[in-house]
Amino acid sequence: QYIFLGGEFVRKEDAVVSVYDHGFLYGDGVFEGIRVYDGNVFRLDAHLKRLYESAHSIMLAIPYTAEEMTQIIVETVRKNELSSAYIRVVVSRGMGNLGLDPASCSMPRVIVIAEPLSLFPKELYERGLKVGSVATRRNRPDVLSPQIKSLNYLNNILVKLEANQAGVDEALMLNDQGYVTEGSADNILIIKNGVIFTPPVYLGALEGITRNAIIELAKQNGYEVKEQPFTRHDVYIADEVFLTGTAVEVIAVIDVDRRKIGDGKPGPVTNHLLEEFRKLVTVDGVQ
Ligand code: PLP
Repeated sequence: QYIFLGGEFVRKEDAVVSVYDHGFLYGDGVFEGIRVYDGNVFRLDAHLKRLYESAHSIMLAIPYTAEEMTQIIVETVRKNELSSAYIRVVVSRGMGNLGLDPASCSMPRVIVIAEPLSLFPKELYERGLKVGSVATRRNRPDVLSPQIKSLNYLNNILVKLEANQAGVDEALMLNDQGYVTEGSADNILIIKNGVIFTPPVYLGALEGITRNAIIELAKQNGYEVKEQPFTRHDVYIADEVFLTGTAVEVIAVIDVDRRKIGDGKPGPVTNHLLEEFRKLVTVDGVQ
């Protein structure tokens, strides 16, 4: 396996970074997770836009243009002879001294990793996930925007730990007012009486690229989609609930805080959208 690191491809065992890298010391940097389906890099432009916007927001200058980054990503997939893959792009502040001031870091470090798919087990897609709401709240957008996909994911990690402790597959994160925002690394959509609801991102959710693709697909397929705040109660009484994300794609939720959702099985709208999503990903991408 070859990894793009510091301007060249190195073997996995040689892909190491300095302990003085501020990405390591402080979580100072940004990242993206991207999927390749049968040689198509899904929505690469949207992922790069988010990467560059996240970097801009934290005053991190990515040392490549978006075109160069596209080439690097495509080359990383090719070099590893993968046709379907999960790609991780990381841009850290780079090496500096022990102080947290980024001024000591002279050169951001760009890393691109491409790995074969490690999907959730098929059974989980067929059974659906059990999810629990957790005490850790999504950070307030006015304090730190959830749109910055930074290397500092402690909030999401705490949420995942709580989910593990509770013995559920995934966590539901609320904002400081108790409105539902998203999962640990995925967006939530619920269906009630045929209408699809998802929280507006201003409540404190990342504007997921999979979420946006599903909203488009849903509308094209005649579903009404509303971005509107909702509470846990609305989730408990929904007909269907599902999560979306680059890693999970579209996955049904069948239990939330021990309340059975619908008839406790992945529902027809979720299955329909998953099917449409699977069709979309093989045609919509950079070859
Ligand atoms: N929410 C968070 C916090 C995430 O980290 C991710 C993953 O990228 C998502 C949602 C889903 O976004 P996307 O569909 O762009 O992968």
